[in-house]
Amino acid sequence: MFLGTRPYEHAATSTAKEPSTLWDDYKQSFHFAPASPRGSFCVGGIVTVHGFLGKRRDISAKAAFIDVVHPGQVRPVQVRSAWDVEGSPEHVLHQQLKSASAYSPVAVTGEVESVGDEENKENSLLRLQSIQVLNEFPRNIIVSKGVQFPATARHLQMRFSEVLQRRLAFRSDVAGWSRRHLTEAGFREFETPVLFKSTPEGAREFVVPTRRRGFAYALPQSPQQFKQILMASGVAGGYFQFARCFRDEDLRADRQPEFTQLDLEMAFATGEDVMQAVERYTKDLFAYLGENYRVTTDDSGDSNFEAAPIPVEALGSVKGTQPARSFAVLPSEPFQRMSYDEVMARFGSDKPDLRIPGEIHRLDSVVPAGFKRMITSLEDPIIDAWRLRLDNGDPYQSREFVKQLFDNLPPALAKNPEGMTAVLIYNLGRPLCGLDPLGHEAFGEITDPSTETHKRLAELADFQDGDILLLQARKREPFFSGGSTAMGQIRIEAYRKAVELGLLPCDDSFRFLWVVGFPMFTPTEAKADDPGQGGHAGFSATHHPFTAPLTEEDFELLQTDPLRAKADHYDLVVNGVELGGGSRRIHVAAVQEAVMRDILKMDDAGVAQFGHLLEALRAGCPPHAGFALGFDRLVAVLSGTNSVRDVIAFPKSMKGEDLSVKSPGRLTPAQLETYHLALRPGKTE
Ligand code: ASP
Repeated sequence: MFLGTRPYEHAATSTAKEPSTLWDDYKQSFHFAPASPRGSFCVGGIVTVHGFLGKRRDISAKAAFIDVVHPGQVRPVQVRSAWDVEGSPEHVLHQQLKSASAYSPVAVTGEVESVGDEENKENSLLRLQSIQVLNEFPRNIIVSKGVQFPATARHLQMRFSEVLQRRLAFRSDVAGWSRRHLTEAGFREFETPVLFKSTPEGAREFVVPTRRRGFAYALPQSPQQFKQILMASGVAGGYFQFARCFRDEDLRADRQPEFTQLDLEMAFATGEDVMQAVERYTKDLFAYLGENYRVTTDDSGDSNFEAAPIPVEALGSVKGTQPARSFAVLPSEPFQRMSYDEVMARFGSDKPDLRIPGEIHRLDSVVPAGFKRMITSLEDPIIDAWRLRLDNGDPYQSREFVKQLFDNLPPALAKNPEGMTAVLIYNLGRPLCGLDPLGHEAFGEITDPSTETHKRLAELADFQDGDILLLQARKREPFFSGGSTAMGQIRIEAYRKAVELGLLPCDDSFRFLWVVGFPMFTPTEAKADDPGQGGHAGFSATHHPFTAPLTEEDFELLQTDPLRAKADHYDLVVNGVELGGGSRRIHVAAVQEAVMRDILKMDDAGVAQFGHLLEALRAGCPPHAGFALGFDRLVAVLSGTNSVRDVIAFPKSMKGEDLSVKSPGRLTPAQLETYHLALRPGKTE
């Protein structure tokens, strides 16, 4: 689909009409016959259908077929128009049909010639009796299959992208199912305020100035504090909410400044109880999807959803689909669990993609000092290594692959101050056969098959022809912090590229994993884009400051060595995506206050911002734990897309703008006045 040569703005103004015809035309579309229920169609009956006009197929100068497509209906209705005698009512009608522009909304009345059969994908056929155009679709917007409309015309993208329509319908269905599932499991839906106040929970907030001088609301980064207050309030059953959350953070393909969480909390519960409830939800959801949906992939590689047994087709058919795949029922065993330290060591990521073959190994005691100096200027580095085996086992193709990979690495990886990634390819065809350095003259002992180092490496990695060995230095730290290591990131990039190039099989299974035992706190500089709690301890809460310690040992560590203390926090991860996270909470006010005051070293003003929560905990709040599932991400993962924008009706751009409505808007002088604001002089945007 594409827009004509004119930009859309012109198209919009070109529909302006003379005032005399404007109201007459409007009158024509103001009253329209109601649509007849599809069940009432019988041959010979007169019915009315509503929908958008499809493309007209002229059989001759005297006969044509046209589809009327209703977005909510599975099959379009076909309408037939034919005439014999010039000037006859049929002729006039035919002319009227021909003058109606494609894609216009219409009410069409006709005699039923045949009744469709949804299961056999047959359309109903009407003989045209009258057509009422309810609002003309501009002729200068040209629509052809597959072309993207600009983000400013999101309504056209939604209107004409079948994939987007299906994904949005799918999202609505998953939301509906989730509500039913949670309600049946005893949860109750609560709404919590969107106009909240600023608190140092962890993420940067959006503030909303008020007309009261110097006062502002803040939009909630999550309903965390309210849901804990609900637990203290003794509400029956668990709490859930489809909550809109707002975070003023750096944006990525899987992050939006406003997003939707399926938020939960359970009283008299531990983290274990919540993990089990979330696992049940996930498995039941997959069972539901397996029964009701098939996924097909079209020519462009986009996934489509078809509800089985009746496909939810709205606008035309999906061409060139590959065989449909169902959502497999997830294994009944509990999801795998691994600690943060384990996933960071084995996969270099706190949200590992378990489909990626091979793990990371530490080789700092294997590789010689001379080699380390070649790849890093760090004093006593850790050396991470990962062996990648592509499908073909051809060293020359591996070499080509590595070049492509490194030409497209994200800048942070390509220019890593801790050193470049060393790449060696195992090549049996070389004179001495062994590890073939890439981009280096020689790596000394490591590439010389006669050395002990080479032998150790070969033994450890069990090389085959064409294997790629990647080595990466990193700073020696006493413990892991942050979300990934450089080797972990390269491993992900390499896997994605290899799958994209068809050098590794595309694995469409869903590999769930719980990551547990996160550190309670993270050194502040490792979370540069998070404002944290504003304490003076040099670290902030890894997730939020309400998270309980994991074990009794961790209580002790909180007082002696807080950076080593683990939290009772759990993240649900699937295929390299963090679907959600939650924790057991500190339910005793004095302990919560001690964490804020004595450990995070927040000042009185900082602690006072959480006064409402401390008061609620003090009122005999029961133990509680919860979870929040990133709903946009869940739908994106299930839809086979990497971008949450593909499953949000009105997403924001990477700059946080909504280009369709052009937000955010510039503050006018009058608004500045109303909200008692002033722009700092001398600063440009
Ligand atoms: N409020 C947390 C978040 O938004 C989730 C939770 O702990 O329940 O990440």
